[in-house]
Amino acid sequence: MDWQGYLDREQPRFVAELLDFVRIPSVSAKPENIGDVRRAADWVAARLTAAGAEHAEVLPTAGHPVVCADWLHAGADRPTILIYGHFDVQPAEPFDLWSSPPFEPQVRDGRVWGRGASDDKGGMLIPILAVEAMLRTAGRLPVNVRFFFEGQEEIGSPDLPPFVSANTDRLKADMIFSADGLQWAPDQPQIVEGLKGLVSLEIRVQGPRSDQHSGLHGGGIANPAMALAQVLAGLKAADGRITVAGFYDDVLPLSEADRAAIARVPYDEAAYLAETGAPAAVGEPGYSTRERLWARPTLEVNGLTSGWQGAGTKTVLPAEARAKITCRLVAAQTPERVFDAIRAHVLAHLPPGVTAEVVQNPGRADPFLLPAGHNATAAAAEVLAQVYGRAPYRTRLGGSIPVMTTLLEHLGVHAVMFGFSHDDENLHAPDEFFRLDAFRLGQTAYGRLLERLGA
Ligand SMILES: [Zn+2]
Repeated sequence: MDWQGYLDREQPRFVAELLDFVRIPSVSAKPENIGDVRRAADWVAARLTAAGAEHAEVLPTAGHPVVCADWLHAGADRPTILIYGHFDVQPAEPFDLWSSPPFEPQVRDGRVWGRGASDDKGGMLIPILAVEAMLRTAGRLPVNVRFFFEGQEEIGSPDLPPFVSANTDRLKADMIFSADGLQWAPDQPQIVEGLKGLVSLEIRVQGPRSDQHSGLHGGGIANPAMALAQVLAGLKAADGRITVAGFYDDVLPLSEADRAAIARVPYDEAAYLAETGAPAAVGEPGYSTRERLWARPTLEVNGLTSGWQGAGTKTVLPAEARAKITCRLVAAQTPERVFDAIRAHVLAHLPPGVTAEVVQNPGRADPFLLPAGHNATAAAAEVLAQVYGRAPYRTRLGGSIPVMTTLLEHLGVHAVMFGFSHDDENLHAPDEFFRLDAFRLGQTAYGRLLERLGA
């Protein structure tokens, strides 16, 4: 029997194992579930060993543990790949919105329903099963494989950077594939090429020592709320372009090929507006809405605070006004350079009669972009085209995934997302589910990927 036949034969057991895995309430955000996250780590290590992986170990970090394992007998002339995923899950509250209890998974309509079924327990089980099928039938893998699974992705992987930097020997690989990822649709694969970075800051404009009477002092001294409004209005031109000097300096321009790839992905502006309830799509001129969403940096005011916001009237001239701002960044911007540019712009454009400070808030992320011609991306795209019968879309995400930049920074390798979930599977919401068709297809895709990389 070949590995595909093994996968077919063992599918009922694999589904039962996924249900066992989902039954462990490994909620990383809640202190009362610390023991359950550890239990999930033990489950993963045991499952890796049962699959034929070696050196499966639960290893400590400052927070939730990680699990590492490997199989390194393909030969020094074969590449070593690292497979990443996570065994922690989001909190399941509110429980009463679930059709069946989140940690008592059920199979209905060809889907497994339960917290973590899609994000990422089903996803991270897939490569383990493909490896088991190959080891049980051929006795070997076409490439050297390392596994690296974590238990704190859903809280932003805070303890991962020090672990990865201290364990580069254990994790070093020629290519990295993340089993935590989405396909565009059940019949349409995608390669996610880019993720945005983030910088967060606050502008505080100060005027008088304390709030003043607007009748006694209005006209005599500056109003910080008005000064802040003038500063904010000056951050963008009327057409939506960001006017901060140097803001776009490090942005890699979109090539014609990039723009063609984005244009190939179906987009329905009316549906987008219906989804958000906004009356129109606006933004930086010269770019389509989707180009702006996926591949251009942004600057957004997230909150404004000043003066009196209660009922009726208070004739106050406020002492202070504050704005919180975040920018989503694209390659090759850095949070620090963008922060410095905004700070310099604000201080240079401050109206008279006020002072200001600009401070960086916690929550930074570097942008991520797969390089053109990247070997692991090409292999993944080829395999997806084979198993789906359609070339993958090349897409990007407006959000950030911290672990992708952590792996790049410490291991020097761009990870390729090779996961089989879909964004309609209620990730992070009640009634999360995972499609069993995608569970099975993903196993074939991982097997083909290992074969392709070992050829
Ligand atoms: Zn995930």
